[in-house]
Amino acid sequence: YKTLRLILGDQLNLQHSWYNERDSTVLYVIMELRTETDYVWHHIQKICAFFAAMENFADLLKSKGHEVLYLKLDNPSNRQNFEDNSEDLIKKYNIQKFEYQLPDEFRLDKDLRTFCDKLPIATQAYDTEHFYTDREELGSFFSGKKGLLMENFYREMRKKHNILMHGEKPVGGKWNFDEENRSKLPKKHKPNATILFDNNVQQQYDRIIEAKIKTIGTTNSAHFFWPIDRQQAIEMLNYFTKSCLPLFGTFQDAMHAEEWAIYHSRLSFAMNTKMLSPKEVVNAAIDSWEKSEKQITINQLEGFIRQIIGWREYMRGIYWLKMPDFEKMNYFNHQRKLPGWYWTGNTKMNCLKHSIKQSLDYAYAHHIQRLMITGNFALLAGINPDEVDFWYLGIYIDAIQWVEITNTRGMSQYADGGITGSKPYTASANYIHKQSNYCESCHYDRKEKTGDNACPFNSLYWNFHDLHRDKLSLNFRLSGVYRIWDKKSSEEREAILHQAGYYLDHLEEL
Ligand code: FAD
Ligand code: SF4
Repeated sequence: YKTLRLILGDQLNLQHSWYNERDSTVLYVIMELRTETDYVWHHIQKICAFFAAMENFADLLKSKGHEVLYLKLDNPSNRQNFEDNSEDLIKKYNIQKFEYQLPDEFRLDKDLRTFCDKLPIATQAYDTEHFYTDREELGSFFSGKKGLLMENFYREMRKKHNILMHGEKPVGGKWNFDEENRSKLPKKHKPNATILFDNNVQQQYDRIIEAKIKTIGTTNSAHFFWPIDRQQAIEMLNYFTKSCLPLFGTFQDAMHAEEWAIYHSRLSFAMNTKMLSPKEVVNAAIDSWEKSEKQITINQLEGFIRQIIGWREYMRGIYWLKMPDFEKMNYFNHQRKLPGWYWTGNTKMNCLKHSIKQSLDYAYAHHIQRLMITGNFALLAGINPDEVDFWYLGIYIDAIQWVEITNTRGMSQYADGGITGSKPYTASANYIHKQSNYCESCHYDRKEKTGDNACPFNSLYWNFHDLHRDKLSLNFRLSGVYRIWDKKSSEEREAILHQAGYYLDHLEEL
């Protein structure tokens, strides 16, 4: 072989130009590595899914005539990091050029650049050909402008890529249909059962157990339902556009104790591993909407498109603009430890119990559960963002740092001081009750702020805003919150803060 091409676990993009031609002098390598399995406690389903998808991708490339080496975790010659393994292969095959695709993760980007600087042979990095934007595009777009508002970036993306546009105007007359997309699931409404595959990942599971990798969550490896190849990813996309898109927007923010995915696409794993491209997903959704002849309303489609060309590309841009400083930000200087029940779901708070238990069972929670239940609580309770990141980076099937940290430390914890959001996402039981059925069977009373059974979200909400008054009260979006707080009698304020203090001292017991 003349050239060694490294494929990372989240670069399973069959449509990449690398694969346009077969070349027997090019050796592709895909590696299962301890450096990747051990940097946080990953959900067992997440590692199984990555390994299975990587192996399937290797087989697919082989079937198309490419030369591929798949290095398993338990291969005796596996030295468990990219550098040593690549060096061994370069020596073994007398390789003259090392090539890779730009990683999405800062850590790997740095490591690979350092590695290439040291190599005595030629090296080359390629774009992944996956995203709409390149790493620097968001930075250039906002350069010279005030703030980094997602909505402005999103509108630019719509115009630039001519997505849902009538000339210069947005289709439907509005850029944003959020207000129509906040319905609770009606009592007897049963969402379409979500598509589940029947994959067997026993071999991957056994390798992980054998290697004694520390994992979280549960799996029934004989019935593993995440998509692990491109065909399944496409099937999942088709299922979504047909069965979920028609109500995606309407119930986008709804939560339910018995429904873990509602109308969400669950395409994040397929997209983050690049088995599916965002363009394919966007085009499939638009196509389905067009063919539906107004059966699918514009608010369903726009709500979905915004997640992909807006939030997903935006978070990627913010990551490259703000890393590595971003991963150390702690605007509120929160220092508490994450309560132990985040790892078990054993809490009396019904919303947290369900959101955490389903995360452990499925390696999945949808956006509002992540943002307004687990994230909201961690923020109100003043948990150290390092601990919050550690949890989110491991538990979800789709968790990769570029999209995890921007959402967690940024959007959900406001530890970035307002880069990704114009105010912290906080809510009391009122909001949770409005969007879900969790409160109906909870140990705590959603209407109470103080007293033995008072919902912890209520006092912690006020405590948070009181505590961080110096940092938040000048934010005009929060003026209403401080107005309500200041109108309360000093006795009531004191009682609420006292209740919050008690809860904060007894977090483990909630
Ligand atoms: P859908 O609701 O069907 O949305 C469609 C797609 O839009 C998703 O697949 C995803 O690719 C994209 N999307 C939606 N919201 C966002 C967002 N805020 N940022 C980026 N992309 C978005 N997403 C991840 O992919 N990996 C993570 O590690 C991750 N961590 C998160 C942590 C927190 C605290 C929060 C609040 C959100 C996080 N998100 C993360 C964003 C979002 O919650 C998930 O992308 C989404 O829940 C995945 O489920 P889905 O595919 O069913 O999404
Ligand atoms: Fe959650 Fe409070 Fe509702 Fe219980 S009452 S489910 S703790 S918001």
